[in-house]
Amino acid sequence: MMPEAPSGPDHMTPDEFRAAGHATVDWIADFLAGVADRPIMPDVAPGDVRASLPPSPPSVGESFDALLDDVDSLIAPAVTQWQHPGFFGYFPANSSPPSVLGELVSAGLGVQGMLWSTSPACTELETHVLDWLAEACGLPDRFRSDGPGGGVIQDSASSASLCAVLAARDRSGGSEALPDLRVYTSGQAHSSIEKDVLVAGFGRHQLRVVPVDGDYAMDADALARMVEADLADGLVPCLVVATVGTTSSGAVDPVARIAEVASAVGAWVHVDSAWAGSATVCPEHSDLLDGLDRVDSYAFNPHKWLLTNFDCSAFYVADAAPLAASLSIVPDYLRNAASDSGEVVDYRDWQVPLGRRFRALKLWFVMRSYGTDGLRAHIRAHVAAAATLADRVRANPRLEMAAPLSLGLVCLRHVDGDEASERLLADVNSTGEAFLTHTKLDDRFVLRVAVGGTWTTATHVDRLADLFDDLA
Ligand SMILES: *Cc1c(COP(=O)(O)O)cnc(C)c1O
Repeated sequence: MMPEAPSGPDHMTPDEFRAAGHATVDWIADFLAGVADRPIMPDVAPGDVRASLPPSPPSVGESFDALLDDVDSLIAPAVTQWQHPGFFGYFPANSSPPSVLGELVSAGLGVQGMLWSTSPACTELETHVLDWLAEACGLPDRFRSDGPGGGVIQDSASSASLCAVLAARDRSGGSEALPDLRVYTSGQAHSSIEKDVLVAGFGRHQLRVVPVDGDYAMDADALARMVEADLADGLVPCLVVATVGTTSSGAVDPVARIAEVASAVGAWVHVDSAWAGSATVCPEHSDLLDGLDRVDSYAFNPHKWLLTNFDCSAFYVADAAPLAASLSIVPDYLRNAASDSGEVVDYRDWQVPLGRRFRALKLWFVMRSYGTDGLRAHIRAHVAAAATLADRVRANPRLEMAAPLSLGLVCLRHVDGDEASERLLADVNSTGEAFLTHTKLDDRFVLRVAVGGTWTTATHVDRLADLFDDLA
């Protein structure tokens, strides 16, 4: 007699899934409705969360109710409340109801979009929505998909700039030329640039740190001098990474001037606008795009300030061929007629990993639900609230602005110095009503207020200004 074939696990029935799904969405709706009443920083010591969990996985499946109860009692109280309207730390990590639902549909479809042929809609919706986004932001035509370039969604700006570093390295001669190649970025660039350069096989000495001006933007004249000196030494400038909206203070590098210097020597220019890029949906911020029509690649994160939950970094290239030249490896088991025809895009050639999630859905859900008018309203409310906060900082004799106001980012300090600034930060955060982080500019302690949370309104920003008045 044949042994009985193993029957597989018990799955939820469609009706059970429906009920559990409704309960989960109800839980999320309740969580968001109540998030403003939670403390922003959880009262959790290292190891507390693990101590609350069983040491081993269950051998017999548990009820979904038990799971959701644990999310409610063990997990939600132990996360930092990024969606709290008083969260002003780092840069925002937007989420929004349509984005969450787009993510849910992505999981439900369960596709892996490495190739066009492994899910045509995954690739084509992504191409299309990134063209929409380019149009909404007024990006130069060179980043649209009807030319040699186009857009792709990466998991993070760090990954996007890594792709730019790899393409630039290989366009300048690849591993053979590597020892002579040099990369330039300012001392205010994001730490991910240094990491990307090291990951791409460069030594630390091959990254040139360009000085900044009094407003913390790259000094393009200094860049030109460094490039010239390296050329004179027989070295090869291969890439300049400019930042539009630096992480510490929101400074904007002079991209047009930088592109002029770089193009004269054939170096790739990548623009990292991870946070500020979202503001370009508003035509009044189109100055952030100055010079972009001359650069090779550009990235910004809708997952920071455009209502789309992590991960969604929009990466645009003027020409995709160098990307594919660096990143395309075609084993026989991935060959297919569509790819061979040359008529389709295979996004695995535009990124480091092979596999890819259907991320375009959440961006599509967001753009259709809010419309470009809604996206603009979101940015404008925050930019206006930040301007009001900056006015209140200037009006307070105990405070001063530590950098020029930049969009939704206000950098300030206490006039009594670092100790007083650190104390103010701790005092504001200990209220549980607002959460700020800090940076250092010119070696001085600076409080950063990043206004941009999905649920953050002028009222929350006014409340923060009141806290400054009370506590400074
Ligand atoms: C936030 C930020 C990054 C990193 O973004 P990830 O998507 O988390 O990798 C890079 N550059 C700038 C300017 C940033 O503000």
